[in-house]
Amino acid sequence: MIHWLPRPSGKLAPILLGFTLGLGAARAAEMRRPNILFIFSDDHAWQAISAYGSKLIQTPNIDRLAREGLRFDRCLVPNSLCGPSRATVLTGTYNHINGFFNNYNSRFDGSQTTFPKLLQEAGYQTAMIGKWHLVSDPTGFDYWDILPGQGQYYNPPMIRNGERLKRQGYVTEIITDLALDWLKQRDPSRPFLLMCQHKAPHRDWEPSLKYLTHDGDRQYPEPATLFDDYSGRGKAEHEQDMMIARTMNNRDLKLVPPGALTPEQRKIWDAYYEPRNEAFRQANPRGKALVRWKYNRYLHDYLGCIRSIDESVGRLLDYLHATGLDRNTIVVYSSDQGFFLGEHGWFDKRWIFEESLRTPLLVRWPGVVKPGGANKDMVANLDFAETFLEAAGVPVPARMQGRSLLPLLQGRTPADWRKSFYYHYYEHPAEHNVARQYGVVTDRYKLVHFYEPEFNYWELFDLKKDPQELKSVYGLPRYAKTQRDLEQELARLRATLKVPVQDPPGTVIGRPAAGRTTNPVR
Ligand code: CA
Repeated sequence: MIHWLPRPSGKLAPILLGFTLGLGAARAAEMRRPNILFIFSDDHAWQAISAYGSKLIQTPNIDRLAREGLRFDRCLVPNSLCGPSRATVLTGTYNHINGFFNNYNSRFDGSQTTFPKLLQEAGYQTAMIGKWHLVSDPTGFDYWDILPGQGQYYNPPMIRNGERLKRQGYVTEIITDLALDWLKQRDPSRPFLLMCQHKAPHRDWEPSLKYLTHDGDRQYPEPATLFDDYSGRGKAEHEQDMMIARTMNNRDLKLVPPGALTPEQRKIWDAYYEPRNEAFRQANPRGKALVRWKYNRYLHDYLGCIRSIDESVGRLLDYLHATGLDRNTIVVYSSDQGFFLGEHGWFDKRWIFEESLRTPLLVRWPGVVKPGGANKDMVANLDFAETFLEAAGVPVPARMQGRSLLPLLQGRTPADWRKSFYYHYYEHPAEHNVARQYGVVTDRYKLVHFYEPEFNYWELFDLKKDPQELKSVYGLPRYAKTQRDLEQELARLRATLKVPVQDPPGTVIGRPAAGRTTNPVR
């Protein structure tokens, strides 16, 4: 079977072929340009995918991508937060280049270069369906059908090419239906880019009503650090506000119902939660027992959302298979960042630590990617745009800061592949009270600076000796050389990536610190 294999130069091969071989051959080459199905979820922890060894859930459909494609074991994000991560995916740049720093006052500048725009100009049909979360309207898409803002799980309002609509049902199923509808009506003579972007499993983790009973009353295995006391780390870790113990509110814990349910839906919701909530009120757990109750409620709901995501992946893969499109379609599954599922006592993301820094990445591309492999290289969502462009034979703009994953997909890691990675989180003061931080990550170490004046301290973690990142070894004599090397590497990365010395004005958040949201349960 012949497959479209773009040249490293990125020249538009179909056009050249058109001159040399005539229009028929050009058409044939055009037909071989791969379709791209990009399935993107919001806050899906790699710990909740069985292909990554999850003990929490089976995800047979996502696992199909691992079995038939390549699993990346260290895909990192430059800023572990929804909007900034999406801006990075679209532009292949860090947030100080694309201008989207935080979810409070950033607005995506849709006039900048994005990979969907470049694919559209190169003749791809482009569609964006689901969670967008970049404030401005999507650009570079023939069709877009998005959730406003964060969106809602049940009966979500949506915006289709600028027109506001209200849809009935569960958000993950609606987005999947819309994605399938779009695939069915597309122009089959041209390649497509379809970005199918889920809201789930974002907070408040509201599962499909059909999956409320999915795990019965299972008690989930606990992470070793569920009761972390943050000793060995600094002020930022002590003062964050993203703890299962004290931050989760009644909506998170389903002690009050969501507002958007119809009366019929509400009956189903109540039938599951109300007897359990009443038992909780009667038992009135305290201390660690209360944390454990919250942890189990959290996991039940979060994993319930994953059931629908996995089902969605299965429906999309089945459609590709039934139509034969699977043979020439790159299917990517990823999330906008990782997530804490009780590690360090936390939910949410934001930190340079592994649970939030790493995101799932699975890629299937028959004929190019050997099935069933695992890649350990440091890759990033910064590389997605470059990868898609190279796969489509479109030149990669110099502005982009990542690197195409194509050689890795073909099983060849270039000798000069990145050995270090720069991270930078800006959203503070804000909800969850996670301090601004930048740092450098290598295969073994992390050096991080909490750089706001009221914090201003460094931490160094040795992942080999301390994989759970519990004790900073910064300043210890035996790490002096490592620390110096990492400081130099951090300076080099900041210079190469053109990181401003001071945070740019766009990062300033125009509202005071949210402060502690003391737990309203009790
Ligand atoms: Ca997210």
